[in-house]
Amino acid sequence: MGSGDDMASGDLILFERPADGVARLVVNRPEARNAQSVDLLYRLDDAFTRALLDDAVRVIIVAAAGVHFSTGHDLRQLMTTEPKEKFEGRGGSAGYAQPGGHGYLAREREVYFDLTRRWRNLGKPTIAEVQGQCIAGGLMLAWACDMIVAADNAVFRDPVVAMGVSGVEWFAHPWELGSRKAKELLMTGASWSAEEARGFGMVNHVVPLAELPAFTLDLARRIAAQPVFAVKMVKEAVNGAIDQQGQPAALNLAFQMHQLCHYHNRERFGFEGDPGGMPNLTKRD
Ligand code: ZN
Repeated sequence: MGSGDDMASGDLILFERPADGVARLVVNRPEARNAQSVDLLYRLDDAFTRALLDDAVRVIIVAAAGVHFSTGHDLRQLMTTEPKEKFEGRGGSAGYAQPGGHGYLAREREVYFDLTRRWRNLGKPTIAEVQGQCIAGGLMLAWACDMIVAADNAVFRDPVVAMGVSGVEWFAHPWELGSRKAKELLMTGASWSAEEARGFGMVNHVVPLAELPAFTLDLARRIAAQPVFAVKMVKEAVNGAIDQQGQPAALNLAFQMHQLCHYHNRERFGFEGDPGGMPNLTKRD
């Protein structure tokens, strides 16, 4: 880390200023392979807000400390009812503390779906800098960014179907992978490489791992040198084109199917996921 770094957003997210006009938010839970706890997601949201409100920041890089970008949501935390006090008062969604599917849906809606939607529509350009495993919730974070630069060792996967659910909460797979590969990769649970992801158009560049931060920073600098308002309008125009294709309605529909899977699993197994796909999580705390 260079000068200007600080930890005001908390240990879980580092806020770095690697160059003029560039903020670099670093997910910093490497001991847990950057699993996304609720605290981590809210602190990341705080860091996005800080970068958004600082006029000196023109481009935001989202990176991760350690070997892996992120292995997904910290499932144990959301599936228990214990940490619900951590949700209350943040996003204004009602029903967090309610039992059963009512509270579960409210928590997933806010912590996973609504935060991802906010980051996808953030009013400044964002670049994901991805190395190692980028799994499930890790995909959601990378996909929320405007561009993705992947190290050549990056591996992507949405294994949620094995847990009895139809894919992650932010169901952008048809756009990110193409509809046929989306079906194949979800139905089989197979992973895909950085090169394959580039072939789908899911990532912009694949670079050697050792060059990942420098390459991403150079890309950010080139964007930061452009007129800030025109860049912002490019983002809105491209996102608007995808929205006109119906992505927001499709994402909402898929989120409801995702919840239907949770309800089905709860009825069938007494738990939100299929125990066969999540053996370490099915004991309630
Ligand atoms: Zn879920």
